[in-house]
Amino acid sequence: MSDYHDFDHFGLDPRIVGAVKSMGYSTPTPIQSKAIPIVLAGRDVMGAAQTGTGKTAGFALPIIHRLLPQASSSMSPARHPVRALILAPTRELAEQVAENVKMYVAGTPLRCATVYGGVDMEPQTQALRAGVEIVVATPGRLLDHLGSKNTSLSQVQVVVLDEADRMLDMGFLPDISRILNQLPKERQSLMFSATFPEEIKKLAANFLREPVLVEVARRNATADNVQQELYRVHESEKTGALLELLRSRELKQVLVFVNTKIGCRRLARELQKQGINAEAIHGDKSQDERMKALEGFKQGTIDVLVATDVAARGLDIVELPAVINYDVPYAPEDYVHRIGRTARAGASGLAMTIATGAEDRAVAGIERLIKRTIEVMPIEVRRAQRGERHERGRERDREVRGERPKPAAPRRQAPADDFFSKPYEATGNESETAPADDEAAVPVGAGKKPAKLAALLGGSKR
Ligand code: AMP
Repeated sequence: MSDYHDFDHFGLDPRIVGAVKSMGYSTPTPIQSKAIPIVLAGRDVMGAAQTGTGKTAGFALPIIHRLLPQASSSMSPARHPVRALILAPTRELAEQVAENVKMYVAGTPLRCATVYGGVDMEPQTQALRAGVEIVVATPGRLLDHLGSKNTSLSQVQVVVLDEADRMLDMGFLPDISRILNQLPKERQSLMFSATFPEEIKKLAANFLREPVLVEVARRNATADNVQQELYRVHESEKTGALLELLRSRELKQVLVFVNTKIGCRRLARELQKQGINAEAIHGDKSQDERMKALEGFKQGTIDVLVATDVAARGLDIVELPAVINYDVPYAPEDYVHRIGRTARAGASGLAMTIATGAEDRAVAGIERLIKRTIEVMPIEVRRAQRGERHERGRERDREVRGERPKPAAPRRQAPADDFFSKPYEATGNESETAPADDEAAVPVGAGKKPAKLAALLGGSKR
């Protein structure tokens, strides 16, 4: 199943192959090698893969190929019904998936539109009403458009739930159910998730028909090509350590992670004061501001993007050279997600973590999860100014007292924002050993009732 070494051998339409080649893809990633033939064959898929593995092309290319015979050059909206629906948890991820899909369909008459909350509905309404075959959407806003009869899902042939675990974490299950109820029963369904808590297994059992399980890399394995380093410092030295790392390594395009929105704002401001082109990206920023920051970062006008976990999730930045954990994440799984931002699609990367004594337990939890010790590196830091020490000290006091941000009740209008300060919830299955990269995709549930999938996703496979 993994013997597809280039994009010419899948039997994909030459326009699609031309598009990916012009984007610089020469070799399919493992998930693409596995998923493309299965999706082309019309099978349902349960994909165990994180963002950064190339999964978007893994599902989008074969979907586009399957839609092409019906593609029409007519201007009539009726000739461009929604045929593929991709649901994503956040606006950023929806944008990025759509950005890729638009490039894949560039040489074809197929159209792609993005639909997400927090921005004016009107341009989305116009795009939907003009007719569009592929819609990438966050659930809440899509329901708003369906309620306004701006589009219809009655001709959808394939649906994708991307980052399904995050969607459920964000409280989207009722919205997803309402959307799925509007789809034709005869359809192809794909679901991608990085983790497999009970609710995901249940959703998969209800939503997928005799799915093929496509799995790449161990669920919580950290990419082997990410160099991981730990810098132990005093609380008052954190910012100094960060500045030292940025300067001594001459780092540009660095994603710096913090645990709180307030910390995010404060650190970006502090870096700016030090003459560094830094921007904060978190839930209190408008969609426009976030997209602008991301664009600036991609263009190289912003060198350091300071982000909270959810703000950063799904950020599509190819070959990001380094990530720095200014705060050790509360949940070990977030560490894996964070360092997954670097070394994407085969590039090598560097992940540096700045830790104080108060974060020792969190570091130990990470090391247990990733089953390795992170190398402690020496660092010489000038002590921070008095004021800075005072301010950070107070924040740390609050954290030590357990006053970390509480998960807010999910709200439909601003889903991403609600989740920004919520630590990742462990699934209890995290340390299971899953197959390595080179294992072939395994059909599961073939000839069995879909309910069996739940057990199979837990680890045992045929
Ligand atoms: P994804 O996991 O789909 O978000 O993809 C991560 C990044 O890798 C995206 O920027 C893709 O454009 C890029 N990418 C996907 N497939 C390939 C490939 N076969 N070769 C090189 N880059 C790729």
